[in-house]
Amino acid sequence: MSNEYVDLHCHSTASDGTFSPADVVQLALQAGVSALALTDHDTVAGVAEASAEAAKRGLDFITGIEISADFPQPATMHILGYGVDPASNVLADLTRRLIEGRDNRNPRIIKKLNELNIKITMDEVENEAGGKVIGRPHMAAILLRKGYVSSMKQAFDKYLAPGGLAYFDKERLSPREALEMILQSGGVPVLAHPIQLRTVNDGELERIIKDLKDLGLVGLEVMHSDHGDPQVEKYTKLADRFGLIKTGGSDFHGTNKTRIKLGTANSRRVPRAFFETLRERVAAGRKAAPTP
Ligand code: AMP
Ligand code: ZN
Ligand code: FE
Ligand code: FE
Repeated sequence: MSNEYVDLHCHSTASDGTFSPADVVQLALQAGVSALALTDHDTVAGVAEASAEAAKRGLDFITGIEISADFPQPATMHILGYGVDPASNVLADLTRRLIEGRDNRNPRIIKKLNELNIKITMDEVENEAGGKVIGRPHMAAILLRKGYVSSMKQAFDKYLAPGGLAYFDKERLSPREALEMILQSGGVPVLAHPIQLRTVNDGELERIIKDLKDLGLVGLEVMHSDHGDPQVEKYTKLADRFGLIKTGGSDFHGTNKTRIKLGTANSRRVPRAFFETLRERVAAGRKAAPTP
């Protein structure tokens, strides 16, 4: 048990990953993990399939979602919601709002790309996404396939990331709203990949974490594919100091992010104890406040 590993952050075709939820479960088993959380952007559409496959294969599974909160660019603040109740009305409201934000943004990106003489249509993007949540990696994959760029990274740097020629922001929730809605959906909110906050010093990072904790934050993602040893050490200390639980995951996206392997967070493996603690917090939350 003590040498078992888990992966608490990954994406499927329900958002911008390239493997189906059932395939992600299979890959997780092949990667030797004993528990998995699926954390697609803005949707829980993949969790029923993943959970059924996990039950069949004897893999522990936890429901998740990843939400982008409002935060000064080019930094990003992502909040993971673990154990959200897929039947919750608050969750349905939340995902509807988030997807509306994408529906407003996506055609603007495509229009701008077309103005730059790039042949890409909204139909192609919808096709690439397979009718689920549409994200910029779907557009990047098309740009790459058509030879407009030579890598996913170049697609973002040149066109899709802040400062890129076809960048448009989408409407986001404030951190407060994101946390409240996760909590009201019966979930446990965890700050994802704190490195992406791009804070300039420890003081700034600590202020943000304290503010989020006051709003109901429960955990910190200390292990992640973007975190090197210094970050893992720093975030572990901060989690302990602020009384936050620690989580970790790969942020696997299949072939949309080729350098990331399921089951591995930047050459580290995430200890099973992180999953056990998270599962306890999810169960405790359910007991304290049954979701509407
Ligand atoms: P969206 O959900 O449409 O806002 O796109 C977010 C997705 O794009 C996430 O999977 C990000 O990791 C990915 N992404 C954002 N910026 C970059 C970048 N500069 N290079 C590669 N992927 C990125
Ligand atoms: Zn993604
Ligand atoms: Fe993220
Ligand atoms: Fe992610």
